[in-house]
Amino acid sequence: MSKNIPELYGSLVFSDSEMKSRLPKDIYRALAKTIHNGTHLELDVANAVAVAMKEWALEHGATHFTHWFQPLTGITAEKHDSFLSPTGGGEAIMEFSGKELIKGEPDASSFPSGGLRATFEARGYTAWDPTSFAFIKGHTLCIPTAFCSYSGEALDKKTPLLRSMEAISKEAVRLLHILGNTEVRRVLSTVGAEQEYFLIDKSLYQQRKDLIFCSRTLFGAAAPKGQEMDDHYFGTIRPRVEAFMEDLNKALWELGIPAKTEHNEVAPSQHELAPTFETVNVAVDHNQLVMEMMKRIADQHDLACLLHEKPFEGINGSGKHDNWSLSTDTGINLLDPGKTPAENTQFLLFLAAVIKAVDEYADLLRVSVATAGNDHRLGANEAPPAVVSMFLGDELGAIVEAIKSDTYFSGSGTVEMTMGPKVLPHFIKDNTDRNRTSPFAFTGNKFEFRMPGSSLSLSGPNTVLNTAVAEALSQFSDILEKVPSEGLPDAVHTLLRDSFRTHERIIFNGNGYTEEWLEEAKQRELPNLKSTPDALPHMISDKNICLMTKHSVLTKEEIFARYEIALENYVKTLHIESKTLIEMVQKDFLPSSISYAGELAFTGAKKRQLSDSISTRTEEMLAAKLSLLNDRISGGLEQLKEDTAAAERLEGYLEAARYYQETILPEIEALRLLLNEAEELIPDDCLPYPTYSRLLFSV
Ligand code: ADP
Ligand code: MG
Repeated sequence: MSKNIPELYGSLVFSDSEMKSRLPKDIYRALAKTIHNGTHLELDVANAVAVAMKEWALEHGATHFTHWFQPLTGITAEKHDSFLSPTGGGEAIMEFSGKELIKGEPDASSFPSGGLRATFEARGYTAWDPTSFAFIKGHTLCIPTAFCSYSGEALDKKTPLLRSMEAISKEAVRLLHILGNTEVRRVLSTVGAEQEYFLIDKSLYQQRKDLIFCSRTLFGAAAPKGQEMDDHYFGTIRPRVEAFMEDLNKALWELGIPAKTEHNEVAPSQHELAPTFETVNVAVDHNQLVMEMMKRIADQHDLACLLHEKPFEGINGSGKHDNWSLSTDTGINLLDPGKTPAENTQFLLFLAAVIKAVDEYADLLRVSVATAGNDHRLGANEAPPAVVSMFLGDELGAIVEAIKSDTYFSGSGTVEMTMGPKVLPHFIKDNTDRNRTSPFAFTGNKFEFRMPGSSLSLSGPNTVLNTAVAEALSQFSDILEKVPSEGLPDAVHTLLRDSFRTHERIIFNGNGYTEEWLEEAKQRELPNLKSTPDALPHMISDKNICLMTKHSVLTKEEIFARYEIALENYVKTLHIESKTLIEMVQKDFLPSSISYAGELAFTGAKKRQLSDSISTRTEEMLAAKLSLLNDRISGGLEQLKEDTAAAERLEGYLEAARYYQETILPEIEALRLLLNEAEELIPDDCLPYPTYSRLLFSV
């Protein structure tokens, strides 16, 4: 296959080169202007693009087209329309117009809107995002689109992300111009999304209701072996998994998704895929496709791909690292420490802006990754804690320290001495080791935000990150704008010093998994929002609403709608988990456990009939232990039933979310422990579902 990869790559994408070769020159130029500068797309241009796109799609076997969008469910949606247009007399032509390309009108009433969509106006509309290329999936031409209500409120994940890209571009360009870097006209955030996932055997997956309904196991005794031997990480990839990865790569490459690395992860059956970074909206679209393709191709290999943050207790869960940076249209990575002091000034200002943003909006970053699934991961000593802090590394940390204290920087090795406190240090790329326990780590020329869960759309975290950094940059510009150019070096130095002083509390280079850190974080007054119901109310604080509205990323109404939907999702997730557990215990576990206990008693009785001298102690002991556990499980089950019914009567999503978190979740966890204990006494072939041993070690 390797021979054909360059040919394969992007073959199902209506890419820039396809457009260039298929469109009349003036049309291509007009479209390129829309793509690069965000100018309005005229209908005649759209019509010409639609014709070329349709021709290309038909050549590649497409029969349908769809506006592919990302509603607030967190996954993607599509409604297929055929190109077919009957012309009468039993004949038909294949048609696709500019209007159909740029605008769709799906019924919005079945997607979450958080009350935004007035009931009398069920229509929503989708609008083409020409910066993300159209592609073919199966027999359908997919056109990446934004999704809004009829009155223009965003009902999706793409719209605010695009708006946040505008905000950060505007503010970054403004600051660069003040610094004299006037060639730059646009700044884009770039993202590389590392995706973790589990692969298990499909036939085993199908035997577990918890995996089917909740995407995670709700109980299961630990396998004799877990991840303690450290033998899976980067281990040899087994043939079945390799075959899956090969097909996955092929599918992704065809879609122009730059899948780059793949390896086994820490936990058994866990793997990771990382693509090369791209512009953030494209990276987010591509990550959605990666997740979709993983599931689809796993299925073709009789595997099930689990994207849940914590499918199994006792071994690592899965995350999605968001590698984030800023890049100018002149090709400069703004978070790459340059080789000259001038470049370093620029770098340090952008660094200071990120530090300020992460400190001031730590709560909002935490909100952006808050889901029921991710709550199992954050703070479980395998993923960053729920406290947001930032890792800079020793060298960069020392530079920040020097600026903060107005002293000379006297780092070692590659670092040059500064001339004086008012001159910024000249240093080269920081190559310090990487702190895996930090939620937000500087990794040489980008930041890595490690809190997002594996199933999350990266739209939310990047929308917050872009907007918060835009705000910090804007405040810097407000200050520096007033300074005459000869005073600029001094003003920048003072600004950096003051900013580092104000926000130093967010910087932490130590081990984020320790109790001592959590204690220290409390002293530093950093928020520790442990669960989703703790985090979500921060979404609607005045400070955070102010941020989003000031930069026109979300309106107040849109924020409240999202807040409500997030709470609703949390409640629904836990409700389904509770109902699933109730059903599994009632209909599957207890009948099996009772019948095994009965079998033991029966065998014991039969032995006694034969002769009083045959010992039946083992049967009796086991039967007694199991019966006792069964009683306790039944007790827990009844309690859970009662409290879940009570939850259904609660009004108000926040109240319900808190109730699920404080009452239902602990009951689910308590039942889990009892079930695990009982499971250890029951032979595998008496259990109505496959155990952890089989789930985790069968592929
Ligand atoms: P790791 O050891 O975490 O895998 P890598 O250097 O392989 O580190 O990078 C991980 C991810 O970071 C990749 O997806 C890569 O494309 C991405 N990345 C690298 N540079 C940038 C950048 N400037 N902006 C955004 N992402 C980047
Ligand atoms: Mg990483």
